[in-house]
Amino acid sequence: MSEQEFSLRRARLVGLLRQEGFDGFLVSALANIRYLTGFTGSSAFLFLDAESEALFTDPRYEIQAREQTGCRVRVQRGSPLTGLGRLLARRGLRSLAFESARVPHSTYLALEKAVPAGIRLAPTAGLVERLRAVKSPAEVEHIRNAARTCSAAFAETVRKIRPGIREWDLAAELDHQMRRLGAERPAFDTIVAFGPRSALPHAQPSGRALRANELLLIDMGAMQAGYASDMTRMVWLGRPSPRARRLHGAVLEAQLAALDSVRAGRAAGAVDASARRVLRRHHLDDRFIHSTGHALGLEIHESPRLGRGDKTRLEAGMVVTVEPGVYIENFGGVRIEDTVAVTSSGCEILTPASKELLVL
Ligand code: ZN
Ligand code: ZN
Repeated sequence: MSEQEFSLRRARLVGLLRQEGFDGFLVSALANIRYLTGFTGSSAFLFLDAESEALFTDPRYEIQAREQTGCRVRVQRGSPLTGLGRLLARRGLRSLAFESARVPHSTYLALEKAVPAGIRLAPTAGLVERLRAVKSPAEVEHIRNAARTCSAAFAETVRKIRPGIREWDLAAELDHQMRRLGAERPAFDTIVAFGPRSALPHAQPSGRALRANELLLIDMGAMQAGYASDMTRMVWLGRPSPRARRLHGAVLEAQLAALDSVRAGRAAGAVDASARRVLRRHHLDDRFIHSTGHALGLEIHESPRLGRGDKTRLEAGMVVTVEPGVYIENFGGVRIEDTVAVTSSGCEILTPASKELLVL
């Protein structure tokens, strides 16, 4: 991403601030700071108003911050907010917006102390996130690469599946392969669940050993160049039972129907409804206990969510997951998930791995 792109994003945000009636804005979510400046460190605040900007960080990041951003960098010893107070006093603002959903209470108290009298602290939520929802072609390309890495790591790893392998060994191998193939790290804690444990949508890998003839769910994602991908696939060792085949077939049908309804201009909730309609026909809709998908990018969960009744209109350049699933206690669960980019005429599937039940 070029410095020009970052300053364009900051200019867009300043326009949004003006619309919302805020003088100044303090960005504290690291993913938002990265989006606006390119800085990837773990400690920073970004101040912005119509005429100025300053990235506050601590001495550990002095060199990195100057290398990564074209923003004015202010290195702060001690409390990171002290310098902000001085800057605000000089700027003569009336209000300072802050990210209310992204600030711990302790930071809020420090902020109250640091802000000079006469400046109102104004809570906001989702301002930068609104800009981030529509990805640039360069961002989609990063996600495409992350999704390719994820699919390649999956293909590399499934060849090593044998009876007796434990969930955490398989998860570790998936993580290792993702890193080997170019990921900085997994985009979230890799989910590997065998047999009845696959009925837990967010199962944490355990020491459970794989047996022949049971469901195996893998939900994984690579974080690459700062961007996440997300994919779920189902595997079976042995000969699939008719029940497993039926469940997998129903979920795949629901997933394809949902993919089919993704298009710019469509409401997010309409995509969710398409998946639910198919599962209702299979009498499985009451076993579909989460929403159909979520946007992703610099973070694994972004807005919009493809949830029931969600009225957000999809736009070309949004990148979302489509991941219906059904979960049956004491038997297992099936989920099939792709990462897709919304286009004006439909969507581009970014996760190339086959979605058929992979029989080994
Ligand atoms: Zn997932
Ligand atoms: Zn997901």
